[in-house]
Amino acid sequence: MNVNNVMADLERKHPGESEYLQAVREVLESIEEVYNEHPEFEKAKIVERMVEPDRIITFRVTWVDDSGEIQTNIGYRVQFNSAIGPYKGGIRFHAAVNPSMLKFLGFEQTFKNALTTLPMGGAKGGSDFSPKGKSDAEIMRFCQAFMLELWQNIGPDTDVPAGDVGVGGREIGYMYGMYKKLAREYNTGVLTGKGLTWGGSLVRPEATGFGALYFTEHMLHQAGKSIEGKTVAISGFGNVAWGAATKATELGAKVIAISGPDGVIYNPNGMTPEKIEYMLELRASNRDIVAPFAERFPDATFTAGKKAWSVKCDIALPCAFQNELTGDDAKELLASGTWCVAEVSNMGCTPEAIETFQKAGILFAPGKAVNAGGVATSGLEMTQNAQHLSWAAEEVDAKLHYIMSQIHSACVRYGEQPDGRINYVKGANIAGFMKVAQAMLEQGVV
Ligand code: GLU
Repeated sequence: MNVNNVMADLERKHPGESEYLQAVREVLESIEEVYNEHPEFEKAKIVERMVEPDRIITFRVTWVDDSGEIQTNIGYRVQFNSAIGPYKGGIRFHAAVNPSMLKFLGFEQTFKNALTTLPMGGAKGGSDFSPKGKSDAEIMRFCQAFMLELWQNIGPDTDVPAGDVGVGGREIGYMYGMYKKLAREYNTGVLTGKGLTWGGSLVRPEATGFGALYFTEHMLHQAGKSIEGKTVAISGFGNVAWGAATKATELGAKVIAISGPDGVIYNPNGMTPEKIEYMLELRASNRDIVAPFAERFPDATFTAGKKAWSVKCDIALPCAFQNELTGDDAKELLASGTWCVAEVSNMGCTPEAIETFQKAGILFAPGKAVNAGGVATSGLEMTQNAQHLSWAAEEVDAKLHYIMSQIHSACVRYGEQPDGRINYVKGANIAGFMKVAQAMLEQGVV
C-alpha cells in the first residue's frame, strides 16, 4: 500500500470531504508498515475496500415546528463495515452534520468497535437538525419523522443505533416509540442508550466518561504516574463531559475547567456533587451555553470566547466535538505545563495538535481507544436485551473496567516503540485494523 495513492483515489471518489479524508489518512499512516508486511492484505485489496462505506442511506425528514411552519432536514445512516458484527454506532443531531462528517465517524466507529473486544460492526447516522432552542414537542416530532424513514434499515441483528452529540436518552425514547409502532416488533435491542424501565443498561449514561477515565488511569499507570491530586480541564458540558467529570473527581483529580460554545468556566476548587448535577440541567435546557454555571456557583468564573485549553492543567480531556483542539491550542497547553491529553471526543484533536503533542513526548491517546467504553457498554446493553435480563451496576462497571484494560493492553502491544514509550495512536489503529482485516480476509470478496 502507498498511502498517497490510496488517498488520491479516495479524494477522487469523495471530493472535498476533508474530515473523512483526515480520519482515513491518520489510520493509513499508522498501519502502513504492518500492512506492507502482509502480502495477503494487499492481494485482497483490504485497504481499498475498508475505506469505502458498505452503503449510505439518505432521506428527507419533514416535520412541523411549534409555530405551524413546515421544516425539512436531511437524515443519514452510514453503514460502514459489518465484518465483525451488525452495524453499531450513534446518531448525531447537529446543524453541521453532512456526509463527510458521518463517513469519518462511521470509519472511526469501525476501528473503535473492533477495539472493544465485542462483535460489532461500524456505522453512524444523523441529521443536520439542530436541537438548540427547540421545544420538547419539536424534538419529539423530529425524532418521530426521522424514524419514519430509518426504521426499515435497522434491527437488533442488522444495525443498532445509539446516541451521540444532540441525541440522549430522551431522543432515543422518542425514536424507539415510533420504531415499535412501525415495525410491530417489540425487541428493545434495536437501539441502545434506552431508559432503565424499557431495556436500558445501568451505567450506559456514564460509560463513555467513566471508560475514558479508566483508560487514562491505565495510561498514567503505564507511565509510572497517578491521577490523584492532578488538575483536569474538560471541554464541553454534555453527557460525555459529565461522566468524565464525575469519574475524575471520584478518582481524586480536580476538574478545574468545563466549557461550551460560549466560553470557559474556570472552577479552581474542583467539582462537587451539586456542580456535577447542574451540568445535566444545563444540557437539558437546550440552550447550549455554559455561562449560567458561574452564576449558580460563585467560586467559578466564566470567560466568554475562551476554550478549556486556556486553563493551566495537568491533564486535558477534549469531550465535545471533532477538531476542537488545534495546533495553537496544543502549544498553549504545552506552554502551561500539560503533560497528558486523552481525546474523548471522536477525532477531537487536529493532526497538527497530535503532532505537537507527540513531538513534545507527552502522553497522548486517541478517541477511538479512550472513548470506546460508551459503545462497549452499548454492546453490553445488547447482550442483556438478547438474554432478557439486566445486570447490576457493579457487574456492568466491572465489565467496562475490564474492556478498557483490554483496549489499553492492545494499544501497548501494537504501539510500543523501541524506546519503550507507547504510541497510542499507532497502537489503537493497528489493533483495530488487524481484527477487521482478518475478518474481511476470512469472509472472501464481498
Ligand atoms: N456515539 C457513541 C460513539 O461515538 C456511542 C455509539 C454507540 O453506543 O453505539 O461511540
